[in-house]
Amino acid sequence: MPIYEYVCDECKTQFEKIVINKQQEIACPKCASKKATIQLSVFATANGAASGGPSSSSSGGGGCCGGGCGCH
Ligand SMILES: [Zn+2]
Repeated sequence: MPIYEYVCDECKTQFEKIVINKQQEIACPKCASKKATIQLSVFATANGAASGGPSSSSSGGGGCCGGGCGCH
């Protein structure tokens, strides 16, 4: 049985609900609002600052100045 995660549009409460029929009404358990947005992908979007860049140069491997070449 699928469990969907919702976020209440009114109070931003997150709650999970077992959804048998997608047309069924859902209500926020906190404020009883009927407006809630379904969260389709439950990937953790917290700390959304995941930049696509490579790992910042710390103990870089490969190139010169990596510590192994003794150029400084
Ligand atoms: Zn609510």
